[in-house]
Amino acid sequence: MPATDLETIVSLCKRRGFIFPAAEIYGGFANTYDYGPLGVELKRNIRDAWWQAMVRERDDVVGLDAALITHPRVWVASGHVATFNDPLVDCKKCHLRWRLDHIEEGQYGPVKRDAAGNVLCPNDGGELTEPRQFNLMFKTQIGTVADDASMAFLPPETAQGIFINFENVVNSMRRKLPFGIAQTRVSFRNEITPGKFIFRTLEFEQMEMEYFCFPPKDRENPAEYLALHKAWIDARLSWYRDTLGIDASRLRVRYHEKEELSHYSAATADVEYLFPWGWGELEGIAARTDFDLTAHGNESGHPLTYFDEETKEHIVPWVIEPAAGLTRTLAVTMLEAYTEEPDEKGENRGVLKFRPNVAPVKLAVLPLSKNEDLRPFARKVFDLVRPLWMTQYDETQSIGRRYRRQDEIGTPICITIDFQSVGEGGQPGDEAVTLRDRDTQSQVRVPLSSLVATLRERLPGC
Ligand code: ATP
Repeated sequence: MPATDLETIVSLCKRRGFIFPAAEIYGGFANTYDYGPLGVELKRNIRDAWWQAMVRERDDVVGLDAALITHPRVWVASGHVATFNDPLVDCKKCHLRWRLDHIEEGQYGPVKRDAAGNVLCPNDGGELTEPRQFNLMFKTQIGTVADDASMAFLPPETAQGIFINFENVVNSMRRKLPFGIAQTRVSFRNEITPGKFIFRTLEFEQMEMEYFCFPPKDRENPAEYLALHKAWIDARLSWYRDTLGIDASRLRVRYHEKEELSHYSAATADVEYLFPWGWGELEGIAARTDFDLTAHGNESGHPLTYFDEETKEHIVPWVIEPAAGLTRTLAVTMLEAYTEEPDEKGENRGVLKFRPNVAPVKLAVLPLSKNEDLRPFARKVFDLVRPLWMTQYDETQSIGRRYRRQDEIGTPICITIDFQSVGEGGQPGDEAVTLRDRDTQSQVRVPLSSLVATLRERLPGC
């Protein structure tokens, strides 16, 4: 069973160095978090697993790392300046601010209404103001003079950097359709709603890919294009299931209704996860047609096209965009991995059952005690495995407490060194170590000479 309440995860994240609320010594900063030593490893491992599946294991996708702050007209062309808005309402009584669409979706509990059917404040049932459109992009100034000409935006998504580099990538990498460009990066949105931990933050990381293909033969009935969209939905769903180990019963695909779709979109489907508070989006997979390349071509006066060798024509490719949230996926990975169950002594233990590939720490080297005789061999083992896998060395407190600690941060294997390893009373040791498995708590003895080979088998993809 995954964690059923968020508080357990929030507290574990802080206590064990995964995620800290930002700027706590200044009283905190809403919807903002800092990633600690284990959080940064976990985030990196999830990002690497995505990059591995989306770029390294494919011969039709290449990577990119475009500038965060770019020409402001990029955001005019993309439609963000005009339409990247949320409808905001204020409660006239308690003055709390809400997103009207989120109240209507029931995200704050059952929707309260007055006699005329108008929605009321989820906090105290107070009357709400008329909705005002609020743009989610953060603005900043370049240079020393604060005027309109020097204004720039922090990116609310990574995709636009990909579109404006389409021609550069085609020319420099000699790419033929279909092919994709992938990018992982931080994005910023001036979200005003109270977040659910790292589910919705001001600053978050995304993993996005634009997959460019030939335009469909029939624009009105783009069957082959929609089949490609479906293939990407399947591929992404199985990545969450098979690579991250998320239980299929808590994953679903939700197709957007016609009214939800942007005017240019042929179809959009979200991969959703069953969070403790209900279903929520992990990734949007959008069939964006030729909208973005056309829009940037028009705004810049520099057409973004592809030369089709067969027809000898310049065409504007169509696009499928799988856009995933890295930090939101990290929250799901934590929720999904967390379990409480009896330990060796029958006492309750909290354990993060991460797949080894995402676990922040892969190994812990634990001498049975602080005894001087154990240390040289334990350090030898540590030095052997440390360059190969993220490893912790710990010799303080009882071995049971150290196992509990490693269980709680999700370390798949503990390597224990005892007197049998180093010898006692003049008797030579067997130069073997004990491997303790996090999930089964079973223990096996392995000679030092075959330790690395055994660990390679037991830590696949690490
Ligand atoms: P939502 O409806 O939850 O606001 P969205 O549809 O606006 O999400 P997209 O623009 O499709 O999101 O972005 C792709 C992914 O980026 C989302 O599926 C989500 O995982 C992540 N994401 C978007 N906004 C945030 C945020 N404020 N905090 C954390 N992750 C986010």
